[in-house]
Amino acid sequence: MTDMTRGAFIGLGAAAAAATATIATARGASATVRGSASSREGSGTGTGQGAASGMVPDLVVTNSRVLTGDAQQPLAEAFAVDRGRFIAVGSTDEVSNLIGLGTKVIDASGMCVTPGFVDAHSHPLWGGLAALISVDTNLGSIQRIQDALSARARETEPGKWVVGFMYDDTKLSEGRPLDRRDLDEAVPDHPVFVGHRGGHTAVVNSAAFDAAGITVDTPDPRGGTIYRDSGELTGRLAGPALDPFQALLPDPSSREQRQAAVKLISELMSATGLTSVHAAGVGSDAFIAFQDARAAGELGFRANLFANANAYPSFRASGIRSGLGDEWLRLGPVKYAADGSASERTMRMSTPYMGRADDYGILYMSQEEIHEAVEDAHRAGWQVAVHANGDVTIDMVLQAYERVQQLWPRDDTRHRIEHCSLVNPDLLQRIKSGGVIPAPFYTYAHFHGHKWVEYGQQKMEWMFAHNSFLEYDIPVAPASDWTPGPFEPLMAIQSMVTRKDYDGRVWGPSQRISVDQALKICTMHGAYASFEENLKGSISAGKLADFAMLGADPHDVDPDSIKEIPVVRTVVGGITRWEA
Ligand SMILES: [Zn+2]
Repeated sequence: MTDMTRGAFIGLGAAAAAATATIATARGASATVRGSASSREGSGTGTGQGAASGMVPDLVVTNSRVLTGDAQQPLAEAFAVDRGRFIAVGSTDEVSNLIGLGTKVIDASGMCVTPGFVDAHSHPLWGGLAALISVDTNLGSIQRIQDALSARARETEPGKWVVGFMYDDTKLSEGRPLDRRDLDEAVPDHPVFVGHRGGHTAVVNSAAFDAAGITVDTPDPRGGTIYRDSGELTGRLAGPALDPFQALLPDPSSREQRQAAVKLISELMSATGLTSVHAAGVGSDAFIAFQDARAAGELGFRANLFANANAYPSFRASGIRSGLGDEWLRLGPVKYAADGSASERTMRMSTPYMGRADDYGILYMSQEEIHEAVEDAHRAGWQVAVHANGDVTIDMVLQAYERVQQLWPRDDTRHRIEHCSLVNPDLLQRIKSGGVIPAPFYTYAHFHGHKWVEYGQQKMEWMFAHNSFLEYDIPVAPASDWTPGPFEPLMAIQSMVTRKDYDGRVWGPSQRISVDQALKICTMHGAYASFEENLKGSISAGKLADFAMLGADPHDVDPDSIKEIPVVRTVVGGITRWEA
C-alpha cells in the first residue's frame, strides 16, 4: 500500500506542529498538510518529509463546501482522512490526487461539512437511562401525561414507583402545571415521581408523600421547597426537597442497562452531528458504562466525564486528576452545583423574579462550602466546574476561583462555570481575567421561551449572553444540559443566531451572534473547554477526523429554519456513526 509506515505517516502530523508541508500533486496543484499541534501526549515522531510519496488515505470527501473552522483555511472543497485523522484539506482536484486503492470516496455533491459538534455540558447517561426505563412525560397536556402514567401503573406492581421524566410545566395545553391531584387521579395506588426536564424540580402524588413520610407540616429543607397552597401540598418539590423521594426510587439500573443507555444516547446524539459530549456530574457507574459501551463498539461520541461529588473523593485519594484518559474517554473536572435552575425558575439572583417580589431563587451551597470545594480540587490539580446560574452565585464562584488562584497560582486551569446564565459587566470582566470558561445553555432562548417572561426582557439581555462573552473574548462553551435543554446543535445555532422562541418572540436581541460565531462556539470552543483544541474542533490536517455533513449550509438558509437542516452523515475518527 505504501512504503512509508503508517506510524511515520501519522507522526507527520505531530512532528510538523506549526509547520506546513505542501503536497505536490501530479497536476502541480497543492493541498495543505498542516501538522497538528498534537494532543498533549503527543502522537509519535516523524520527519515531516515525504508526505507526497505513496500516501493512501482511508477516506476522501470531495465536492463539498467545507466550513473548516480553521482560520488559516476557512473554506475548502475536500479533505482526506487516514487512520482517524484529517491528513489533507484542499480543493477537490488536489485531494482527489491522493485517492488510491482502498480509499473510500464520498462525493458530497455540494453539501456542507462542518467540524463535529461538541456538547460541553449534557447528561447523556442519565437521559439515556431515563429514556430506557422511565415514562416519557414530555407530552403536550396533563391528560396525556395522566394516560401515560396510568398505562405504566397498570403494568407495575401496586406499591412500586412509577417514574416520569422530561416533564415541562410550560408546554401543557391546559395552561397550568401538573399537580398532586392530577397524579392521584391517574395513579392512586402507586407512588409517582415526575421529574421536570430541568432536573431540579418534580411533582409527586399523595402515595409518594406517604412513602417519604412527608406531610403538609414538614418544614422545608435548607435550600429546598415543598410547595403548599391554602394549607395543602401541591405536589411540587424543588432542590433538596427531592432528596427523600429520590432515595426511595428503586435502584434505577443494572450495568447492562447503563451500557444500553450509552448505546441509545450515542445513536440519538450522532444523528444530530454531535461527535463529542461532556457528561456533567457522573458517578463511577458512568465511567464503567462508557467503558463497557466503548469496548462493545457502541460508544458513538468522544466523552469527557465530570466526576460528581460522590465519585471525586476516591479519584482524588488515588492521585488521579482531570485529563486522565484518551481521545475517546477522558476524566474532566469535578462538578458541584451551587444554585437552582434557569428553566425551572429557581436560580439565585440579585433581583427577584417577575411578579414574585420576594423570590430571588435558591442557593445550594454557602460561600464557605464553595471555597472549600474549589480549594480542595484546585490544589489537587483538578479542573473545577461549578453550576452557577444566577448573578449572585456566579459572583460567589468567581470569588472562590480568584481566591485559590491568588493563594495557589496554577497556569491554565480553565475552571468552569456551568450555565453561567445571568451576567453583568463586572462578572464578564472577572471571567475574562480569570481565564474561566462559562458554559451557558445554547438552545434555551429558542426552546424555553415561555419561561423567560418570569425573568423579563431586561434580564434576558444579560442571560445566555453569548454575544457578551465573545465581546469580552471569552471562549464560551456550547452546552445543552440535556435533558433540561435539547441537544441538537443546529437548533442551538438557530437559537443563538435568532434568540427567537417558538412563538416568534425575540429574547435579549443584543445577545444575537452570527452563524460563524455560533459554529465556532459549537466546535472549537467545545474542544477548548476540555483542553483539546489542538486535537479537534476544526477540520485541519493532523486533527481527529470528526465531522458532520449537512443538507445545507447554515449561512444559506433562513435563520429561522436552521434547525430544519438535515444532518446527512456524522463521522467520528473517520468512521461513520450516523447516515441519513
Ligand atoms: Zn447539568
